[in-house]
Amino acid sequence: MKFIILGSGSSVGVPWITGNWGKCNKKNKFNQRSRCSAFLQKGKISVLIDTSPDIKKQILDNKINNIDYVLFTHEHADQTSGIFELRPFFWKNKKQISIYANKETLVNLKNKYDYCFYGGKGYLPILKGNLVKKKFSLVKKKEKIIIKSFYVNHGEIKSTAYIIGKLAYISDTNGIFEKDFFKLKNLKYLIIDCLKFNSHQSHFNLEQAINISRRVKAKKTIFTNLHSDLDYNFLKKSLPRNMVPAYDGMILNI
Ligand SMILES: [Zn+2]
Repeated sequence: MKFIILGSGSSVGVPWITGNWGKCNKKNKFNQRSRCSAFLQKGKISVLIDTSPDIKKQILDNKINNIDYVLFTHEHADQTSGIFELRPFFWKNKKQISIYANKETLVNLKNKYDYCFYGGKGYLPILKGNLVKKKFSLVKKKEKIIIKSFYVNHGEIKSTAYIIGKLAYISDTNGIFEKDFFKLKNLKYLIIDCLKFNSHQSHFNLEQAINISRRVKAKKTIFTNLHSDLDYNFLKKSLPRNMVPAYDGMILNI
């Protein structure tokens, strides 16, 4: 299986729309960060995680030519607002795209993007909503991917953590419940929220992300959802070897 981190930036990305690069060196292309989303490929099954506002460019840049399923982590705009960009995949496959999300996210998406789910005014529905389960599989012909999920705290809401084989993707969180740490044993890759230096009410900061990494002991921890105060080279040089900053287009084999 191939896993691509399509976007590694915080909700505003780096640079911001105002041209602000914060503490990030603008000459380093690894500091150019689009909003968090990811992609998983196993054989012919193509799975997208979240539809960021940058999704069209992310899909084109990474030469992704199909999407069969979409997993959503939560309903915030930086994870969902690119949802209507999925239309050409519906046209291509002539089939509604199955999306998976927790109940709150699904209700929120169906309210905001009702035309995607119900169609109307001459347009066809392009998406089919499914609730995530603790364990479920995505299937296409003879190919199958098993996905495990659990909830984590993300400020005043819950976001969904996904485990695929030996990889865990937890892009938006400020707290993992004690009861769930055993699910993160023996990982090859832990991809975890690491927003900024200072603490934040709905994200891990650098110190907290390092502590989680030390506790989980994945072979490699990859910090994502990076804000403009965390420069790529600074992180690369100051972190222990088994912890690295994510960058857009980072490919992991699992
Ligand atoms: Zn969020």
